[in-house]
Amino acid sequence: MSDCLFCRIASGQIPATLLHDDEQCVSFADINPQAPFHALVIPRRHIATLNDLHAADEPLIGHLLRVAAQVAKAGGVAESGWRASFNTNREGGQVVWHVHLHVLGGRQMGWPPG
Ligand code: 5GP
Ligand code: ZN
Repeated sequence: MSDCLFCRIASGQIPATLLHDDEQCVSFADINPQAPFHALVIPRRHIATLNDLHAADEPLIGHLLRVAAQVAKAGGVAESGWRASFNTNREGGQVVWHVHLHVLGGRQMGWPPG
């Protein structure tokens, strides 16, 4: 989708600080970090929200989570701890309509989330 910000980042049309890329997904630093370490992991394929997943997407979502763990490790927060979050729709806090996994670390995370 040419009008989707994260599709444009995945295709390299918009620059980002890349942390990982492969045939299925891309990880990059969040432009407005909410923790000392804040990365996003996105599928290359456009999927608007988790509500739009199909059974065939299960391996893809598993892959995003494994890449998140790799990115957290490379970022030095795997052992201290990190938070993975898929914000979904308005009350979930989603503002970019392309599925993305937040990877946050480097500080104590609160629970419950605000
Ligand atoms: P959401 O609120 O939809 O779960 O999160 C969207 C995230 O995308 C936010 O944390 C925001 O800072 C990040 N973001 C928005 N635009 C850009 C951008 O152009 N580049 C990067 N690297 N991150 C972005
Ligand atoms: Zn997209």
